Amino acid sequence: MKGVRVFASLVFVALCSAYTVDYKGHQLWRVDDITAAQLDDVRAIIKNLDLDVWASGRTWVDVRVTPQLRRSLGKTLAALNLNFRVQTEDLQSPIDEERNNLRQRKSSTGITIDDYNDLETIEAFMKETAANYDWVTIESIGKSLEGRDLWVNILSVPGGAEKPIAWIDCGIHAREWITHSTCVYGLDHLTKEYGKDQEVTELLDKYDIYLMPVYNPDGYSFTWTDDRMWRKNRAPTSDPFCIGVDLNRNQDDGHWDGPYSSTDPCSDAYRGTAPFSEPESKAVSDYIESLTQHQKVNAYFNLHSYSQLWMHVFGWTFELAPENDVLESVSKIGCDAIKATHGETFDYGPIASTIYPANGGTADWGYKIGIVHSYGLELRDRSSFILPKSEILPAAEETWAGIRAALMAIE
Ligand SMILES: [Zn+2]
Repeated sequence: MKGVRVFASLVFVALCSAYTVDYKGHQLWRVDDITAAQLDDVRAIIKNLDLDVWASGRTWVDVRVTPQLRRSLGKTLAALNLNFRVQTEDLQSPIDEERNNLRQRKSSTGITIDDYNDLETIEAFMKETAANYDWVTIESIGKSLEGRDLWVNILSVPGGAEKPIAWIDCGIHAREWITHSTCVYGLDHLTKEYGKDQEVTELLDKYDIYLMPVYNPDGYSFTWTDDRMWRKNRAPTSDPFCIGVDLNRNQDDGHWDGPYSSTDPCSDAYRGTAPFSEPESKAVSDYIESLTQHQKVNAYFNLHSYSQLWMHVFGWTFELAPENDVLESVSKIGCDAIKATHGETFDYGPIASTIYPANGGTADWGYKIGIVHSYGLELRDRSSFILPKSEILPAAEETWAGIRAALMAIE
């Protein structure tokens, strides 16, 4: 009992203390109504100013703008006839609000399915679930750079012929908290509803589900202690002032060193020194590849936020995959199931034309090793990484409805 009280007060202290990194005066700008002819200009501005891109769609992009950049960026955009508006006046204020809300809510140390949970709470829940169900196991598939375990839950109900695998991971980008909560919800929902809910039962009778709620534990931990908006892992780089590799630009997709990732260690899209240079991406990819040696891996879902997009290959080129028709049809099935859940619409299409071209991404790597159904999903909402608590459960429910429908449609 005493131990519990000490732990609870530690959580309280951690939540009370302010983040080290302050975004006071930083703004979120949306550059909107971008025409095809203006796209190259926008990409050049982002690259030249090394802007932190938060999200984007076919005709818009959200960027974080520091106080120092406001004037010059505004002038540059205006000179190019690009429309923009300030979406968030002061980014620190939603961050503070979220932290205050979390502090008030967290009275227990256990998992809260409809809320955000810190790394230790998620890990404890993963272990507890494995202990409670004899068809759920937990495995550490490697260590992060800072020595944290990379945990995966395996949901494999007994009986029937050997099943194909569906792999779902969350939190490759640390600040995308809704993804961690969506994986946690999936673990809770699938285990509790198997044998009761027909759709869940059918899914687990068809697939072995591999679920990784925290792909990037060092980064996720850092978003709870120091910088809510941290994206990359926590690797030291050649620049002593810049930390971290973007794990979704570090994959050995055959085009890692292409033009759509950054060689600058200070960039949020820094690709690292070599494909799979990072322990997290190396461990996950080695593990998935080893699974393919003895079992069919039918699908790979890599979850992100935000923008409400369902994307398939390719990211590295605008060319379409030979399987584009089937990928579009499965994506549509997923998006329709999402819409049927709470009415939210998701756009779908190839990564390069739906969000932006990118080298070294997970979907292209999955495709390269033979997992044609490799998808990147951008969850709710369309305006911020700080998704209100009231939207956590609906977001998780619709995402799993989409993933389930897609998996049932894949042959
Ligand atoms: Zn992301």
